[in-house]
Amino acid sequence: MADIHLDEVGHSYDGGRTHALAPMTWTWSDGRAYALLGPSGCGKTTLLNIISGLLTPSAGRVHLGGRDVTGIPPAGRNIAQVFQFPVLYEEMSVYDNLAFPLRNRRYPKAEVDQRVRTVARLLGLEEVLGRRSRRLDPGRQQIVSLGRGLVRPEVAAVLLDEPLTVIDPALKWTLRSKLKEIHRDTRHTLIYVTHDQTEALTFADEVVVLKDGAIVQSGEPAELFLSPAHEFVGHFIGSPGMNVLDAAIERGVVRVGGTPAGLAVADGAPAGRTLSDGPVRLGVRPEFVRVVPVPRSPGLSAQVTGVDRMGSHHLVHARAEGGTLVAKTEPGGVAEGTGHFHFERAYLFRDEVRCGTLAALEG
Ligand code: ATP
Repeated sequence: MADIHLDEVGHSYDGGRTHALAPMTWTWSDGRAYALLGPSGCGKTTLLNIISGLLTPSAGRVHLGGRDVTGIPPAGRNIAQVFQFPVLYEEMSVYDNLAFPLRNRRYPKAEVDQRVRTVARLLGLEEVLGRRSRRLDPGRQQIVSLGRGLVRPEVAAVLLDEPLTVIDPALKWTLRSKLKEIHRDTRHTLIYVTHDQTEALTFADEVVVLKDGAIVQSGEPAELFLSPAHEFVGHFIGSPGMNVLDAAIERGVVRVGGTPAGLAVADGAPAGRTLSDGPVRLGVRPEFVRVVPVPRSPGLSAQVTGVDRMGSHHLVHARAEGGTLVAKTEPGGVAEGTGHFHFERAYLFRDEVRCGTLAALEG
């Protein structure tokens, strides 16, 4: 097992016409479970294929455990990769498919049997071990593919590219927790590619968010939720995503339209430092918006336009001066009309990057 280090790795296709990845320097630490999260086309698969060796980057070097492996094909890297769709020997039994990567590496027969049965038990494949793979439904076939990726204990890393796409939603939850269990046992460096935030947040020790071929933030799930460093992270993580209002700073005070919304405080800046005047975007997660009986800072008064009753909570929609606002509240009593919205935690962004947080006005 080993760290994977990318040194100024970038990639473009079509002789430089399609830029897929901007040059990045990044280390994936040994033994950690990562989710690589981002929208369609942001470069997730490109990055994964560069790590596995299916693709040689157009710039930079790839190091595996300190060894420069740039240009070395997948077979020379000792990395397991699982794709979105099943890759199996259809005429072989499930048992033989799972055993194949081990036999190929000349594992002793008893160990092959033990590993195959452990993985089969964890993934719920025990009753189909004797069945021919072709006879399974696509969901089960994909689980066998996943098992093949996880069966070898000595691989340097396991790369999973949207591995649960063809799996029934109800089964996805179970499989994610099984994957976690397997990871706790094997401690492979694991990179799990997904565009689904729930998948990323429930599974990973660390979530790496990719946008337009560049990493915009990485951290534990709670950190990305509580402290988005980039406007995109606020939108992409959370359901619904972060509200964003057009705002401005005037002598240290944040205003939305003509209304003071609160006091600007720069993140990590010495006490008392204020942000320079000018336009900003104010981000507030629906979970941190409270509907209150009297105006309270930081916050705004806004026109309630509708309430979605979701069962476990309500989503209160409102029109404010700088844009629209959604509050996620306890079920109960929000009427239409003007409401007062208090922000328990809010962020300020300039050029999409967080430049401050919003704190309560004293007095
Ligand atoms: P998805 O979730 O849709 O698979 P992704 O985040 O994995 O997307 P990539 O498949 O890595 O993104 O693609 C990144 C960019 O590179 C996209 O603009 C895509 O169109 C382009 N691209 C990917 N593969 C090729 C290729 N073989 N030839 C040309 N362009 C490509």
